[in-house]
Amino acid sequence: MSGSDIGDWKFLPAFPPPGSMTGQERIARCPACRSGEFTHAGRRQFLDMVTCARCGLLMTSPRPIEDQTLIRYSERYFTEEYLPAQEVTPALTAHIDSILDRAEPAKNVSPTLFELGIGGGNLLTRARERGWTVAGTDVNPASVTHATSRGLHVWCENSDHAESLGGSYGAVISEMSIEHVRHPERFCRLAAEALLPGGRLVIYTVSAEGDSFEHSGMASPLAGPAEHLFMFSTGSLVSLCQRAGLRVESVWRNHTADEIGIIATKRRDTGNAAVVASSTDDWTTQPQAIS
Ligand SMILES: [Zn+2]
Repeated sequence: MSGSDIGDWKFLPAFPPPGSMTGQERIARCPACRSGEFTHAGRRQFLDMVTCARCGLLMTSPRPIEDQTLIRYSERYFTEEYLPAQEVTPALTAHIDSILDRAEPAKNVSPTLFELGIGGGNLLTRARERGWTVAGTDVNPASVTHATSRGLHVWCENSDHAESLGGSYGAVISEMSIEHVRHPERFCRLAAEALLPGGRLVIYTVSAEGDSFEHSGMASPLAGPAEHLFMFSTGSLVSLCQRAGLRVESVWRNHTADEIGIIATKRRDTGNAAVVASSTDDWTTQPQAIS
């Protein structure tokens, strides 16, 4: 394990200086299953991660305040780090198609698709080619500017504060974005409320149960507690979807199990998703920064 080493984290230059990004909110209750029992998982980037004893959700705790984590999502990050890694290749298109294939049955409900966390807009562009009417949001203004230039209907919004997704959709997709948000339970509730009855939520994210984390722990390339505030277990994803009132259809993983996906549908027989309690009491504020 690498202790507090952060030198190998490739995204470091976009963060505040080492050590200045300190934990000031400590988890009190797991946002997925509401358990209050945690075990220490490890430390990196001067930040600790803990594991929920009940559902296996891995989370940064204590974690920096939001202003510090949002610094990451800058124009520099988008243009210099994110976008160069998003070149459209046959492999990337196959990956995107594997996610869109799982949303495809929802086209019978409505051929409208919303993406939470659009990145460079590759998934929405591909979805549009496949016959969906698309929309989406991202927390990074540079991402939205880029996607708008591709003719996509998108806007800038932070899902941790959003009241709605601006409409009703047959499908809501999140591809490698829920691990970045501060309140995944709110994220799932927003998605559930925006789905039409019979519609599908498809989430694809980083797994805490794959080869990489199992073999390398906090030295895994997936572990970056300043940016990936959560790493998900099967149980935590199932719990998040169920608490949002959705019916879980299936879970799948990539070949190393380092990435995990879940499909959940909005029931046709209930008008409203179950209301998830406010998350404001899930985190307690530290009296002072912990280094
Ligand atoms: Zn839990």
